[in-house]
Amino acid sequence: MSLERELQQRSGSKCELCGNEENLSEYAVSDIKENGLKTVLYACKTCIEQMNDADSIDPNHWRCLNDSMWSEHDAVKIMAWRMLNRIKADWTQDLLGMMYMEEDILELAKASGDGEDDENKLIHRDVNGVILEHGDSVVLIKDLKVKGSSMVAKQGTAVRNIRLDHENETYIEGRVDGQQIVIITEYVKKT
Ligand SMILES: [Zn+2]
Repeated sequence: MSLERELQQRSGSKCELCGNEENLSEYAVSDIKENGLKTVLYACKTCIEQMNDADSIDPNHWRCLNDSMWSEHDAVKIMAWRMLNRIKADWTQDLLGMMYMEEDILELAKASGDGEDDENKLIHRDVNGVILEHGDSVVLIKDLKVKGSSMVAKQGTAVRNIRLDHENETYIEGRVDGQQIVIITEYVKKT
């Protein structure tokens, strides 16, 4: 039986992470030498894109891990653990705290470097200390002068679909009046 056929059987022809039934293909868990069913999962295009590109992660999509992290299949457990580590939010920390992984599987999961240096992890927080995620919406809590232009972003302006600065946890980016600007986290409130 081909690997794909075996995966279809194992998953019931559904994405093993989110349950989607369309655009499915094999996904080999990266950074692991072992090959075979143990390190391959059946996943949809949306999940695969976001597993391959941390910048494209939509945290809400991964609420599905609430269910799939309990999978009996190692490849699914490994990717669930990695994705939970990539999304810095209260709910992902809660799920990680509940997740059970055998020692050898956890080792494999860590091979990608996810979950390392937990204490150095950048966590972006708004003025109230609420964790900000990629794609969140915020409002400005004061008028902000935009560097390098005469523009002032007004207090109360809503900024949708923010991006987090990977190097500095006090910076986020967002679009105001069609212009991409850097905003300091203490001047925003999550909505
Ligand atoms: Zn999926």
